[in-house]
Amino acid sequence: MAETEQAVPQAPITQDVLTIPRKMPEGPVNLIGLSRGQMRDALIEIGTPEKQAKMRVGQIWQWIYVWGKRDFAEMTNLAKDYRSKLADHFVIALPEVVSRNVSTDGTRKYLVRIAGGHEVEVVYIPETDRGTLCVSSQVGCTLTCSFCHTGTQKLVRNLTAGEIIGQVMLVRDDLGEWPEQGAPKDEQRLLSNIVLMGMGEPLYNFENVRDAMKIAMDPEGLSLSRRRITLSTSGVVPEIARTADEIGCQLAVSFHATTDETRDKLVPINKRWNIAELLDALRAYPKLSNSERITFEYVMLDGVNDTDEDARRLIKLIDGIPAKINLIPFNEWPGAPYKRSSNNRIRAFADIIYKAGYASPIRTPRGEDIMAACGQLKSATERARKSRAQIAAETGL
Ligand code: SAH
Ligand code: SF4
Repeated sequence: MAETEQAVPQAPITQDVLTIPRKMPEGPVNLIGLSRGQMRDALIEIGTPEKQAKMRVGQIWQWIYVWGKRDFAEMTNLAKDYRSKLADHFVIALPEVVSRNVSTDGTRKYLVRIAGGHEVEVVYIPETDRGTLCVSSQVGCTLTCSFCHTGTQKLVRNLTAGEIIGQVMLVRDDLGEWPEQGAPKDEQRLLSNIVLMGMGEPLYNFENVRDAMKIAMDPEGLSLSRRRITLSTSGVVPEIARTADEIGCQLAVSFHATTDETRDKLVPINKRWNIAELLDALRAYPKLSNSERITFEYVMLDGVNDTDEDARRLIKLIDGIPAKINLIPFNEWPGAPYKRSSNNRIRAFADIIYKAGYASPIRTPRGEDIMAACGQLKSATERARKSRAQIAAETGL
C-alpha cells in the first residue's frame, strides 16, 4: 500500500502522537502555557490560600504576559517570601532559540528547540500595516501533502500549549516588544497577527492550540483579537465546528484542488473527508464563529490544478460561502515533485476569481532566501528526506 494511504488517519491521530504532559513528574512546573484555571490550581497546590489565588493569578499573569518578566524577583507587588516560594516551585521558561535568520525582505526565521531536543520553525513577517507570526503546532506533520516540505518530515510530536504560546513570547523578546523595551502603542504592534500556518496540522493538536490561543487572546495579557488569529487546516472536518465554538478565530483551509481526484493526491486527508464534506463544514463556520470570511488557500502548481476550468470549478464549489481566495505561488524545495505555475497563469486564474466577485490576493513569497516561505519549513536536524522518486510514486502524479 502506498505510504500516503497509510498516513490517512482512520482514528483521531492525536492518539498516535507523543504529547509531553504539562506537568513533568520531577522538576519545577512551567507557568507559561497554563490557563488561568490551571495556574490557580498550581498556586493553591504550593499553599496559596484559595481566597487569594485568583488575585495572585491576575498579578502573575500580568507580569508574564504584559510585562514579559521571567524572574519572580521582579514581581514587586508580591511579598518577598511569596516570590521566593514561587521561584522554588515554578519556572517561566520559553523554548530555546537555536538560530535566527533574517531575510533581505525583513522576514525573520527562528529555529527553536523544545523539550526532547526536537526543533520547530517560527517565522515573523513584517508588512506595512501588520506584523504576522507564523506559528508551528507540531514537530513535522503526520499528514503527507505531496507539495509540502513539512509533510516529508517523519518525526512528529504535538507541541504543548506552552511551546506554542512560547513562540509568540520569544519573538516579542527578539522584537523588543515589551513595555520596558519601548513597545509601540497597541495599534502599531510589531507582532499584531498570528497565523497557525507553520509546521503541523493544528486541528490534530486541538487542545494545546486552543489553550495557547486563549492565552494569546486574554484581554489582560497578550490581548490579541480573535480576528487577528487565523488557523489553517488541511481539512480535519470534525474539528472545524469545534474550532468555531472553542476558539472563534479566523479560519483558512488548504483547498488546493477542485476535484476529489486531484485533491486526494495533493492533500491526502481528502480521502477521509472529501470536498463535499469539507464544504459543508466550512459553510457552517462563519455563523458558528461569528467571523466574516473563510480564506481558501490555493497553491498554484504548474499543470496540476491551475487551469481556467479549475478556477471556474472553484467558484462554483464555494458558492454561498463568504470567502477570500488566497493564491499561493508554489514554493519549491529540494526534491519537490512540482513546479510553480507561471506568473501569467496565476494572474489569469486570479482574474477569473476576481471577476466572480471574490478577493483573490496572490501571496507574495516572503523570506525565500532563508527557506522561510510557506511549506518550506522543516527542522534542520531532520535528515531523513524522502527522495523525489518516492514522493512521485506516492502521489501518482
Ligand atoms: N497544516 C496546515 C497549516 C500549515 S501549512 C494546513 O495544511 O493548512 C500552511 C499553508 O502553506 C497551507 O495552505 C499549505 O497547504 C501551504 N503550503 C504547504 N507547502 C507549500 C509550498 N511548498 N508552497 C506553497 N504553499 C505551501
Ligand atoms: Fe501537514 Fe499542512 Fe504540510 Fe499538509 S500542508 S503536510 S497538513 S503542514
